[in-house]
Amino acid sequence: MEAKKNVAKELIEDSDRYLMRTYNRQPLVLRKGRGIKVWGSDGKEYLDFVGGVAVNVLGHCHPKVVIAIQKQAQRLLHVSNLYHIEPQIKLAKLLCTHSFADKVFFCNSGAEANEAAIKLTRKYAKEHYGQERFEIITALNSFHGRTLATVTATGQEKFQKGFEPLMPGFRYVPFNDINALQSAITTNTCAVMLEPIQGEGGVKVPSDDYFKKVREVCDKNGLLLILDEVQTGMGRTGRLFAYEHYGITPDIMTLAKGLGGGVPIGAMLATERVAASFQPGSHASTFGGNPLVCAAAIATLEAILEDGFILDHCNRMGAYFIKKLSQLKDDYPEKIVDIRGKGLIIAMELTIDGTPAVRACAEKGVLINCTAGNVLRFTPPLLVEEKDIDHLVDVMGEVLGK
Ligand code: PLP
Repeated sequence: MEAKKNVAKELIEDSDRYLMRTYNRQPLVLRKGRGIKVWGSDGKEYLDFVGGVAVNVLGHCHPKVVIAIQKQAQRLLHVSNLYHIEPQIKLAKLLCTHSFADKVFFCNSGAEANEAAIKLTRKYAKEHYGQERFEIITALNSFHGRTLATVTATGQEKFQKGFEPLMPGFRYVPFNDINALQSAITTNTCAVMLEPIQGEGGVKVPSDDYFKKVREVCDKNGLLLILDEVQTGMGRTGRLFAYEHYGITPDIMTLAKGLGGGVPIGAMLATERVAASFQPGSHASTFGGNPLVCAAAIATLEAILEDGFILDHCNRMGAYFIKKLSQLKDDYPEKIVDIRGKGLIIAMELTIDGTPAVRACAEKGVLINCTAGNVLRFTPPLLVEEKDIDHLVDVMGEVLGK
């Protein structure tokens, strides 16, 4: 154990020495994972309620995903998008069959998917409405990525500071406020871009009728509705896509995180009408829709869709989780302000900074995440069980009781 601890210490020293300091990392080196469990390089076991921040929808190293990757790796790793790619075609067909969309563009991350959505929107608007229609309204407190366009779309100054000048063409309104959205529309507006639930912003769930009204406002003003489902898609909220909760469909939707079950893949989906504005040469990605990642994504999507078990389970576990956390809130009303979420994207808002709780939970073998300063965010694999949730809640009780 001592020798293994030294290996971890050396690795962390090398991490500090050789990697750019873009992350505030926990002092842990994770080496192995199965289901909801991960193990550190010192052999210590953890329950993973971070799940790659909504990436590991099927848990770690799900056999179906692993086998799909192994098989595809033996057949074909990569070919250029100058050719048709079998797993890419199959994945696009599956996504379109199970969503509002008619067409898919593949890329490698959430930011790239949103970047593609912004480009498609601008091109569509110019072709249909003229040069002046380029402005996209997004929400304050939103998160859409770290490229220059997507960090500008992100309605949080802290992510933009130091990178000015930002991209022109974005305007921000408070989330879940339909009047503010209506008032922000100008003759330059071409689209509204929103997360169905704000993830990084602190798991903010809008009122039930908000998106119906957003859709109406978009239709009335000839605006496209772009939904960023990078975090909420792929079953996370208990439906395959979160927009299904709201009884509307978007014109464009972006996916990444859970899409590949752990491998890097992003996708931008659109209706036929909108997608027609992309023609050969409009946009591209060398690795986008690569055979290996598409094979993993097909396995992930098929597992989620198989007989509906995972989505039912996600809903049941989500309700159980919220019930248990609400009991904890009753025990610690001075420390816990709110419990909220949908499916298995759940938040516990504290009156205090959440960082010490993240550290204390990790010491006790449970990995959780803190966002927006004081919001503990739980995005475990969708196959999490009651006993795992019970354990997390016990540990949280010990941590908050100190
Ligand atoms: N959009 C949303 C809603 C996200 O939560 C994230 C990442 O957290 C992104 C976009 C950016 O995704 P990526 O980190 O894959 O670029």
